[in-house]
Amino acid sequence: MADFKNEFAWSWSRHRAFEECRRKYWLNHYGFWGGWRRDDPAREIYIQKRLNTRPQWLGSLVHEQAERLLKEGLQGRALEPDRAVERATRRAWSMIRESERGRYRDDPKRMPGFVEHYYGIEVSPEQWEADVSEAARQVAGLFDNPVFDRLLRVRGQIREIEELRQFVLVDVPIWVSLDVLVADGEGGFVVIDWKTGRGHHTESVAAQLAVYGAYVLQTYLGEDPTCAPPDKVGKIKGMYVNLRSGEREVLPLDPESLAQTVEQIGGSAAAMRAALTDVEENLAAVDDFPMLPEGDPACSRCPFRGTCGRA
Ligand code: SF4
Repeated sequence: MADFKNEFAWSWSRHRAFEECRRKYWLNHYGFWGGWRRDDPAREIYIQKRLNTRPQWLGSLVHEQAERLLKEGLQGRALEPDRAVERATRRAWSMIRESERGRYRDDPKRMPGFVEHYYGIEVSPEQWEADVSEAARQVAGLFDNPVFDRLLRVRGQIREIEELRQFVLVDVPIWVSLDVLVADGEGGFVVIDWKTGRGHHTESVAAQLAVYGAYVLQTYLGEDPTCAPPDKVGKIKGMYVNLRSGEREVLPLDPESLAQTVEQIGGSAAAMRAALTDVEENLAAVDDFPMLPEGDPACSRCPFRGTCGRA
């Protein structure tokens, strides 16, 4: 099988890693390369890259179940709430047990481990129970959620559910995966973002949704996000829906925040490329990506702390 290349593409999560810690960025996007092979020297970094904290895991599980339920709904195979909760609970316990048994060592891609199991952090049975109950509660809550309900009633207007897509903006290839993209029936689009955590910053959610807005503008409305007319920009809205608290907020895309986003992507990608030893080949040397200072609190939460000697 021909080897494939590590191509540079910007994403919101890549930007966040670059801002947070340069070494984390390197490990996540360069150091792990090849670690999907069992005997590769990068295997351990790859395993660490795939680890989840409990809140991250809860978020992925609820997103996965929301995606599945919505796709089943589109096919007219909607599950009853009780069966959906039972399925989510079974899946949750199976993921916890597999991680406990260390299955992430055999197959980190399909069975990513928990940070807690990997680093031997004690979690009481009650804490695991509470996590599984919260995941089940959020899945059950989908059935009473007005946005989820509305999506099932306008299923013909849904354009994307969790599809990994790439587009190019200001010469930068960008990955996006929208939780749900739905046409509003009046020539516009709504990007829906499920949230599952306790807190979020509206500003950072708005910035993330503006990246998705640029994608929709270019892909579905055929407009260049760098010079789109304001009436076209105004056709796109972001909406975050917090499945933990039931809160939701509509964030319309406006020309000013779109311009800021385009500028931010251009600046962020330029800084990432400037750190490379070979831009054409997308090669990066570990020493050009320093660790955070010893004792930085971010290290105690980082999945790579074993590699960095900060465990
Ligand atoms: S452990 Fe600390 S220094 Fe190492 S990658 Fe994580 S945040 Fe960066």
